[in-house]
Amino acid sequence: MSELKVLDEVAPKSFEDLIKEVHDKGICGECGGCVSFCSAAELKAIEMSEKGPPHYSNKDNCLHCGLCYLVCPQTYVLNEELNERFNYKISIGNQKKITSSQATLEEIRNKATDGGVVTALLIYLLERNLIQGALVCKKEGPFNRVPFFATTKEELIESAGSHFDQSQQVSGLEHYDTFIPTITKLKKIVGKDMMNIAVVGTPCQIHSIRKMQELSILPAYVVKYTLGLFCNFNFSFGEKERAKMQEKYGFSFEDVENMNIKESLTLDLKNHESIIIDFEDLTEIARQACFACKDFSNIYADISFGGLGSREKYTTTVIRTNIGEKIYNDALKQGYIQESMELNTAVKKSEMLAKIMSFGKRKFDRYNERMKV
Ligand SMILES: Cc1cc2nc3c(=O)[nH]c(=O)nc-3n(C[C@H](O)[C@H](O)[C@H](O)COP(=O)(O)OP(=O)(O)OC[C@H]3O[C@@H](n4cnc5c(N)ncnc54)[C@H](O)[C@@H]3O)c2cc1C
Ligand code: SF4
Ligand code: SF4
Ligand code: SF4
Repeated sequence: MSELKVLDEVAPKSFEDLIKEVHDKGICGECGGCVSFCSAAELKAIEMSEKGPPHYSNKDNCLHCGLCYLVCPQTYVLNEELNERFNYKISIGNQKKITSSQATLEEIRNKATDGGVVTALLIYLLERNLIQGALVCKKEGPFNRVPFFATTKEELIESAGSHFDQSQQVSGLEHYDTFIPTITKLKKIVGKDMMNIAVVGTPCQIHSIRKMQELSILPAYVVKYTLGLFCNFNFSFGEKERAKMQEKYGFSFEDVENMNIKESLTLDLKNHESIIIDFEDLTEIARQACFACKDFSNIYADISFGGLGSREKYTTTVIRTNIGEKIYNDALKQGYIQESMELNTAVKKSEMLAKIMSFGKRKFDRYNERMKV
């Protein structure tokens, strides 16, 4: 289907349709795509809410152009085109190569969630002048990370991982949310001519960026590299849920130092113990929108990353596009990352692939179940 035809068919839809078809159904992932790419951004027609889906801040300023509807990952427009472009295969997407690798620099591995490959690749891109910066997120306090545009190696290392600040007390925080609407920052960082950036994001965020690239919407052209994280769920929870979890698992959130979402949720405590919580026990605090999301392994990213299938301090890396393949191979050749011989045998690779496909299928089934309601 041609771009023009798509636009022609769906142009009359506007933010009001997003409210009806996405927000009211409880499936808005709060990715921020609609706010980032709103044609009336200067006029502040819509904005992110403190909690819940974005809202009209000034309805009269809405141009009814429909862009917000088109880029939303929860509408179905453009999916066929993207699947064709990215050679989609069921439950895994396209994969040119799958590896288990890690950053060569110990400083990165110490801060990273898994093997630090995401951070090492971003540093490679920056040091080779392939990007001027990367849209990531950094910690601002316990369970509080914020969108961040990193432009130096030091800033990229500071943004690695999903660690929490040990020095602050968590009890003052009303609500914890593991989802960070990083792409809402996209428009704010654009403006310099010919800027090239990399974006790290969850599947819903990368999906929104790919839609906007498909439509050649500003600031799509600046995003040259998309590094996607695997994502099963994100969590949103308040005081009541926190108290329940603390009681059930016998720990205090004040002692949580690090969080890792892999085959389950792992909370590493300051005393070096870990609390492992099954996803099944977390459905109460999972964001409702995540039940209506079917992409686990970030099928439209240039490279996707997760801990699933790899051992401690290694990142499972799925290379999907020619661009992804080029930067991964260059970074490997130039010593930014390393692969373990032991973890990269044909058997290990097929085990990794099988795990990802099984998680992908489970997420797809969950989506079908949710959409039946
Ligand atoms: C919310 C969330 C859910 C995940 N779920 C799974 C899962 O179910 N299974 C699985 O195998 N892997 C999951 N991952 C991916 C995994 O936790 C690691 O991020 C991935 O393996 C890369 O590890 P690394 O050490 O190479 O990355 P690092 O080198 O540590 O770099 C991570 C990068 O991600 C950025 N980042 C951190 N948190 C977020 C966020 N919330 N939104 C956007 N960017 C962020 C950081 O700023 C940093 O640039 C999830 C990640 C997140 C953030
Ligand atoms: S101006 Fe366009 S993109 Fe912005 S809210 Fe209105 S319809 Fe959506
Ligand atoms: S899912 Fe993202 S793009 Fe869609 S309405 Fe929600 S915030 Fe906007
Ligand atoms: S599961 Fe992950 S990718 Fe899907 S909506 Fe939730 S945060 Fe986004």
